[in-house]
Formats: sequence, C-alpha cells, structure tokens
Amino acid sequence: MNTVVHYQDFDELMSLLDKSNVKYNKRKIKKAYEFANLAHGDQRRVSGVPFILHPTSVACIVAEMGMDTDSVVAALLHDTVEDTDTTLDEIKVNFGEEVMNLVDGLTKISKIKYTDREERQAENVRKMLIAMSNDIRVIIVKLADRVHNMRTIECVKDQKRRDKALECMEVYAPIAHRLGMKAIKDELEDLSMRYLDPIAYNEIEQQLELTENERNAFIEQIKKKILDKIGFSMSHVTISGRVKSVVSIYRKTYMQGKEMDQIFDVFAVRVIVNTIADCYNVLGIVHDIFTPVQNRFKDYIASPKSNMYQSLHTTVFDKNGIPFEVQIRTYEMHHTAEYGIAAHWKYKLKLRGTKQDKIDENLTWIRQVLEEQNLAEDSTEIVKAIKYDLSYNEVYVMTPKGDVINLPAGSTVIDMAYAIHSGVGNRMVGAKVNGRIVPIDYKVKSSDIVEILTQKEGTGPKRDWLKIVKTNSARSKIRNWFKKEKRDENIVEGKSMFEHELKKAGMQFADEDLEECLQPIIQRHHCNSLDDFYASIGYGGIQLWKIMPRVKDIYTKQYKKSDEPEKPISEERSPKRRRRVGSGVTVEGLEDCLIKFSRCCNPLPGDDIIGYITRGFGVSIHKRSCTNVPENISDSEEPERWVNAHWEEEIHESFQSTLEIVCNDRTGFLADVTRELSNMRIFITMINSRELKDNQAMVTITIEINSMDHLRSVMAHLAQINGIVSITRV
Ligand code: MN
Repeated sequence: MNTVVHYQDFDELMSLLDKSNVKYNKRKIKKAYEFANLAHGDQRRVSGVPFILHPTSVACIVAEMGMDTDSVVAALLHDTVEDTDTTLDEIKVNFGEEVMNLVDGLTKISKIKYTDREERQAENVRKMLIAMSNDIRVIIVKLADRVHNMRTIECVKDQKRRDKALECMEVYAPIAHRLGMKAIKDELEDLSMRYLDPIAYNEIEQQLELTENERNAFIEQIKKKILDKIGFSMSHVTISGRVKSVVSIYRKTYMQGKEMDQIFDVFAVRVIVNTIADCYNVLGIVHDIFTPVQNRFKDYIASPKSNMYQSLHTTVFDKNGIPFEVQIRTYEMHHTAEYGIAAHWKYKLKLRGTKQDKIDENLTWIRQVLEEQNLAEDSTEIVKAIKYDLSYNEVYVMTPKGDVINLPAGSTVIDMAYAIHSGVGNRMVGAKVNGRIVPIDYKVKSSDIVEILTQKEGTGPKRDWLKIVKTNSARSKIRNWFKKEKRDENIVEGKSMFEHELKKAGMQFADEDLEECLQPIIQRHHCNSLDDFYASIGYGGIQLWKIMPRVKDIYTKQYKKSDEPEKPISEERSPKRRRRVGSGVTVEGLEDCLIKFSRCCNPLPGDDIIGYITRGFGVSIHKRSCTNVPENISDSEEPERWVNAHWEEEIHESFQSTLEIVCNDRTGFLADVTRELSNMRIFITMINSRELKDNQAMVTITIEINSMDHLRSVMAHLAQINGIVSITRV
C-alpha cells in the first residue's frame, strides 16, 4: 500500500484546486475555511492534531474527485454544526441554501446513535439514503469524511476502531461500490481490513512484497510488447501494471479457498487510450500478441455495469502460459471507474445520454430501497438489502430482445422476472434459458438469455417462491402481492403456520387469552388485530422464527409462573440468542457474526462442528475432529474463543469438498470424471492429476456440494466409472 498522507492543510487544498481542471470559486472556499477554522477554534483530534486539519483534508479528497465548489465548501463545514455552536442559519446566510442543505444532510447522518448495532446501521443507512435521494453530493462528502477518519483512526481506542471498521465494510464500502466509486471503496476496505483481520492482512501484504520484483519485471515485459506493436498508430497511451487490492485477494484466498497464484488478476495490465475506437484496436493487438483464454472476454463498453463502469476485459496467456488480465479503457472511463458517480460533476458538460441514464438508474435504486423499506415491517431488512442487493458478485443476463439485466449472483429466473417488472413476475408461469425450459429455481448465469413465460390470467406467484428468490426486491414484491390479493387465504395459512409452531414448542394458549397475550407482538408489527397478525405471517411479513422466542417468553410468564423454579439465566438465555448468520451455520451466543469455513478441514453439513472466534474477522468453523481443534477445550490455551456451532436445517449454500480419486491410468479417464460431474450438475473449482506407481493415477478434485448426503451420492456415482480404485475425501 502506498504511503498515506494523513493530514493536508489549506495550502495543499489550494494547490490541488489550482491543478484541477474544474473551475473553482476560490473566494468562497477560502471564506469557508476561515469560517470553519474560527468555529473549531482550538479543538483537537484525539491524536492532538488541530481539528481544522480534518475538514481541510476531507475537502482535499472531495476536490481530488473533481467535485464542485459547493461540495468542497460543505466538506470544510461538515463538522461545524455538529461539533460547534454554529447554526444552519449562519451557514445559509454565509454560503447559501444549497450548502446549508448539504451540511444539514451530513449532520443528520452522523447524529443517530442506537445501542443495537444492527438497528443503528439500519437507521444510519436509511438516513443516508434519504439524504442521497435529495442530493447525492451529501453521500460523496460523507464517504470522503469516512475515508479520512479511517486514515487517521490509529489513535482511536481498539474497540471503537473495530466497530468503525466493520461499519465501513458493511455499509459505506458497499454504497461506494454501488455508486461506482472504486478508489474510495478499495481504500475503505483496505483500511478496515487492517483492523478487522490484521494477521491475514499482513500475510497478504508480505506475500505481495515478496513477489513485487518478479511482478514488476513481468509487467514491464508485457508493456513493452504491447507498446512496440502499437508504435505510432495511437497517441497518448498509458500502460500500467496493477495489483488487486488486499481485500479482493483476501476474498479469493481466505473466503473462496483459492491459492494466491490461481488468481488470474493478481497480475493485471491496464491500457488507457484516447478514444473508444483505440480501445478496440488495442484489444485486437493484445489478442494478436497473446493467446486469449476462452470465455474471459467482457465488453463493458457496449454494456456498462450498473454502477457505470466501462472497460474491455480480456484474459490472455503469455508465452510461458502465465494468464493475466488486460483492461482497456479511455481516460474518461478511467476517471469514472475510479470515482463513479462523482465523475458526473467533472464531465457533466459533455454528458452523453447513456451516462445520464446511469445516474438516474442509481437514484432510482435508492428510491426503490426506500420504498421497500416502507413495505418491510422490520427495520433490519434494509441492512440485508444492502448486503444482498449490493453484493460484489453480479451476473449479467439478457432478455431475448438483448436488454442486459444485472442481478446478484445466485439469482433465479424469478428474480429476473421481478427485476423486469412486478407485473411480469406476478404473471410468470415458467422460463426458458437459452431456448430451453428450465425449472423455476434455475440460477441464472452471466450471458444467459432468459425468456420469462407469462400468462395473461396467471395464477400469481407461489408461496414457495419466497424461499427460492435471492433478491430482496423480488421477495418484497411477492409478499406485497400476497398481502394485497389474498388476505383471507393469508389468515388461514398464517393461523395454521402459527398453531403448528406452537404445537411443536409444546405451548397451548387458552383461546380467550390468546389475543391479549400476543398484544405486544401484534402491536410491535403494526397489526391491528389477531387476523392482521395471521395475515402477516401468511404472506411472510412476519417471520415465525423471529417471533417465536418472544411468544415463548409470554407463554412462560402467563402459565408457568409458579410451577417451575427459574433456571439460571445463562442456560435459559443462550438458545434464544442464537441467530441465523446466513451461511448455513448458527453460532451460539454470537449475534450477526461473519462466518468463514476453515480451509484445514472443509466442514460440510452433517459434520460435527465448532466455531473459533478469530482475532478480527468473525468466526471460523472447524470440524470437531479437525487436528487444529484441541481435544479438550477447557484445558486449551484460550477456551473462551471456542464456541458451539450448529448447522441450520435449511441450507442453500454450497460447500467445497476435495476428493482424491485413485484409478488405473487409461486415456479419457479424466474426461469421464468431469463428464460424470457435469451430468450431476456439480461445479468443479479445482482439478489436477499426477501419475502414481503401478500404472495408476491420482486425481485431486475440489467440487461444490450441498450436504454430506449429496457428497455421498456423488462419490457413489463416481465409483461406477470404469477403472476407479478408490475415492477418499480429503
Ligand atoms: Mn468528520
């Protein structure tokens, strides 16, 4: 990572403005600086640095993005109303209404403080979205504020630092990503990860350092080849080597279990040219010099990503067979790739139709999330929306007419239908992918052509769909349909679901008590009556697993007051504090924690498991029998770090498992294995083979499977292949 300048002063701000090709009103900016300087007086940062250097540095970040005068002014003033006696009126009198609104938005965002982390986040995000939908500059300045706080967070206390880092990871970085602000997103993530998982961070940094010379030499040589071939045919060509951010390497190595040298684009070369025509010319030249890897070419110039990103991507082999990625784009696209929506202010004079549309699309997205928030009965839903709908992995699917629709990875054809229009989703009866009928839970892949089959008098969505869909937006549209169309059915359905749940838990309310007993829950979910409550359960607005612990409390209070002696709190409470954590695993006593599966033993559903609280990045799950798990935990070094963990009943995620297959060496054997796996629709993540003695061969293969049972059946299938000697799970 490059050395970070922690604080910048007014002179540096001025010289940045001078260098910029944006026309700034320097008098107004100087006035804002003097105003803020006076207001903050002798306030200091935790580190002892004069406070005014913080807003000045934020203003520098904002100016570097090429934002306008009012944004720079708002950056200088952003903490005055919150931290000093300054009023919004004074800001309005001195700097006008627009600046006042920006400062107001910034003050509001940082004011909310809730005790519960999830709820606080939800509220923060909601406020931010509201502020954004009025003026997106608020969020741009806020993100700059966050970046600067993270750069200078070293002096802050440990726990607070971790909290801030986590908030950056979960809320601010995804928003920056969504708005296409890659430079900001990468920096927020890298700075956060330093505090969240310092050990892994250092490991990756060291590895990158070790390979730095080798990498530079490699890139130099590639660069020379391309430049030689371009010759004088184009002017103003910039070629640079690029290393992935530490966090993206982390995601691939630690979270997805790939080896560092398997990551294609640790080595990447970026070519920046003047015109779009030159982009395609360079692409031709690159494909001429090197051998392209099949299916790795992506044209984001013709179909930009939803966050406005444009570029050509291709992966090629050099003559030694080392694959590397090449990204080709214009200077303007490059600025947009780094600063996303902020680039709009720099280029607005020569804005083309497409770009304006993309900005509108981003704002529409914000409004959509807000609307869905109103539909959702639970405020924490919005945090989920941020986490899922903003996930980094996206797929690009096409309609038969050629419109590109972009969905989070794992989306089904139903998600696609609802992404087109809720009317399409509600009338959907099936789908065709690449011309063939597929099951309704088919997960779409990039470049699939998806045709949604509808009927005029469709029967409407099915309740099961709620379990199948991936996107928050499809889920809330389906719920909304049930809410509106099927009230009576919802009541019946909800009542029976609720009663079933009561029976399972051995509770029996007297009929005359029921409505009164449940009153607190009914009200908390904004229902007016017991029927309303049932209806909500019926369409999925209220989720039973969330409310049942509370129902149980009420039941115990009502009927069991004197019968039983009270249990000690720890025993009574711990099962209730289990939470779903979205990875198929529940960890006892830990709310909302990040889960990763340890790479030493690759646990699978059905295995006996245990969790280990890592030093910064959530809980890692091991098999109970893993050699890294002490046999006797209470005698181990840090027994408090080991926590009970269980598989959840419904598991949708897939897991990686590695098999070693020994076979008699014969031609076509490997092809038979891969064909058999593809027939079973098994995704292979890694495969390699080597010769053994006695004319035998060993194939090591890593595949994605859903459960222990699934794995057993896969192994049974493979065992039937001609020539197999043994199959063992590693
Ligand atoms: Mn600040």
